[in-house]
Amino acid sequence: MIFTDNRNMNPFGSTVRINVPAKDYTSFRIGGPMAYFAEPGSVEELSSLLSAAEKIGCPVYVIGNGSNLLISDKGVDALFIRIGSNLADYSINGTMLTADAGALLSVVAKESVNAGLAGLEWASGIPGTVGGGVAMNAGAYGGEIKQVLHSVTFIRNGELITKRVELDDLGYRKSTFAFPSAVVVSTEMELRPDDGGARKRMLDYTARRREKQPIEFPSAGSTFKRPAGNYAGALIEQAGLKGTRIGGAMVSPKHAGFIVNVGNASFDDVAGLIELVKEKVFENSGIMLDPEVKIIR
Ligand SMILES: Cc1cc2nc3c(=O)[nH]c(=O)nc-3n(C[C@H](O)[C@H](O)[C@H](O)COP(=O)(O)OP(=O)(O)OC[C@H]3O[C@@H](n4cnc5c(N)ncnc54)[C@H](O)[C@@H]3O)c2cc1C
Repeated sequence: MIFTDNRNMNPFGSTVRINVPAKDYTSFRIGGPMAYFAEPGSVEELSSLLSAAEKIGCPVYVIGNGSNLLISDKGVDALFIRIGSNLADYSINGTMLTADAGALLSVVAKESVNAGLAGLEWASGIPGTVGGGVAMNAGAYGGEIKQVLHSVTFIRNGELITKRVELDDLGYRKSTFAFPSAVVVSTEMELRPDDGGARKRMLDYTARRREKQPIEFPSAGSTFKRPAGNYAGALIEQAGLKGTRIGGAMVSPKHAGFIVNVGNASFDDVAGLIELVKEKVFENSGIMLDPEVKIIR
């Protein structure tokens, strides 16, 4: 806990806030004070934050909309850099969508459909940013970022790099552009002219989400990655775990693939339930589930 005694002496200057509750920035609504918290409004500001932290040896976490995060409620002594609405411009030129990392996937997906394009309609219900989507290679209903991602501009080792995306840069819920290996700043996505069905598909996916997913409770989406040839939700349900609770954390009775916060769940409630689910599913099926949710403590 190297910064605990220093929280009132902010080494980053006035644009960086101190002791900001992580629960206000995560879809799980869980998480204690982030020692330092910044929302840069330019690539230059982002770069100088990264180098200032490196210079003084302060740990860094880059986050987007916090929709895939479980953060300790004891607080984390680090600089959290949130790439969100301050770095969220986007534009559409022909079939090319250019979007800053902080733009919301749901927004650019809907705007691309409004502009007569197809290729991102599966993303309209994903509550993350473009940067978080690239880091996670977010996907749904047969679509994934990888299919449309043309180029990524990112910071690595203090250098701003633009790279044309290659096939093996992204895989199932992983990417070479994910923090800490890179900080995504902006992206280009190559979409295609709408075949006339994009809006209908988008509305259909939204309806399916509402019907199947417990979006009425705070969560981080699917808790576990899909194991090869199977579904985490089905395995959890087969292990009889629907509705299992630890404190305020519960395996959703609506969709077993989601752990939901049904009332002031703590970090330990969710982390404990994740472990319990892994253990019981392994006992029942011999399959070891791997969390998709990123845990920061
Ligand atoms: C109700 C609900 C439904 C969901 N449905 C889906 C779904 O259908 N499909 C799906 O794939 N996911 C889904 N998710 C999970 C989540 O929305 C995605 O993983 C999303 O891509 C995370 O984006 P974020 O901006 O919230 O990233 P965060 O949660 O803030 O961060 C996630 C990871 O990305 C890294 N990261 C974030 N921004 C950057 C950046 N600019 N550069 C480098 N690394 C970065 C972080 O360090 C972290 O490791 C769902 C979540 C919820 C709550």
